Amino acid sequence: MVDFTFIGIGNMGEPMVNNLLKKGFTVSVFDINKKIYDNFSNKKVIKLDGFESTKIAKNIITMLPDGKSLRNLINNKIFLKCLKKKSYFVDCSTADYETIVNVENQLKEKGVYFFDAPVSGGIAGAKNGTLTIMVGGDKKKFSKVKKILEPFGKNIIYIGSIGSGQIVKACNNMMLGINMIGLSEAFTLAKKYKIDKKILFNVCSKSTSSSWAMLNHLPVKGIVKTAAANKNFTPGYSSKLINKDLKIAKDMAKKVRLKLSLGFKASKLFDSFCKQGKYNLDYSAIIKILKIK
Ligand code: NAD
Repeated sequence: MVDFTFIGIGNMGEPMVNNLLKKGFTVSVFDINKKIYDNFSNKKVIKLDGFESTKIAKNIITMLPDGKSLRNLINNKIFLKCLKKKSYFVDCSTADYETIVNVENQLKEKGVYFFDAPVSGGIAGAKNGTLTIMVGGDKKKFSKVKKILEPFGKNIIYIGSIGSGQIVKACNNMMLGINMIGLSEAFTLAKKYKIDKKILFNVCSKSTSSSWAMLNHLPVKGIVKTAAANKNFTPGYSSKLINKDLKIAKDMAKKVRLKLSLGFKASKLFDSFCKQGKYNLDYSAIIKILKIK
């Protein structure tokens, strides 16, 4: 019997699968892009062409781009047939709240326990198994979910009922997006005044403006090792993903009639950046939009 089935083995999924393998688990993997199967040579990986009941584990993890791709998966009748009663299905994607609640209703009918467990910490966190994970779902089953998620995360935090992990994640990413725009503006402004970027970093990283985004994803090259700016903004965390996340936060705010001045503005800026064809660049490439204007 396979220990885990992992669906969506992109930038985040691949290192997460590797962490399961390091712990000695057998893992069946599925992705619509079969080219990325070549990334796995470990014999404990079963690469699925389609869904077969015997190769679908009772612990299922999904790491998909968005709510739409999760809905596509759940609407696949063959996949649904392969799900076993009392399975744990943990979705680590960042998706919208409505999708999560609807998927839970669908899976409940099949006797499957479903949880939303979006993550924070980027690719480095996925590689090192140090992600922060926000879990929504049945509290009585949280201890089992925590065990399932342990190979991926350092801080696994129960938030509340189904979908609540996604609410916290949307708030987190809205703050991150706003922060990245602020960082980009400050580094561009200082450059205009011929301040050396290394000196600016040296001061600000030890001052009140310091942030996770500054220390890990600085939008200028040559200072922070893990920054996508060092590799021509190859993601990382792509602009299309933060654009999706900011839209989720915007829709959440609109639903409760809240006007968020910076949150809405950040969403608009990333949306226009993506519309300029930059959606496959890392989100820190937003600094380029400031150079255009
Ligand atoms: P990615 O695009 O690199 O990977 C997603 C994978 O899912 C792709 O390989 C794609 O082919 C596959 N896929 C899409 N639809 C599918 C389907 N129906 N069935 C099977 N496979 C399917 O994205 P990523 O960067 O790995 O991000 C995954 C999720 O994690 C997103 O929701 C993102 O917002 C979130 N996230 C990303 C980061 C980051 O730094 N990249 C950080 C935290 C959270």
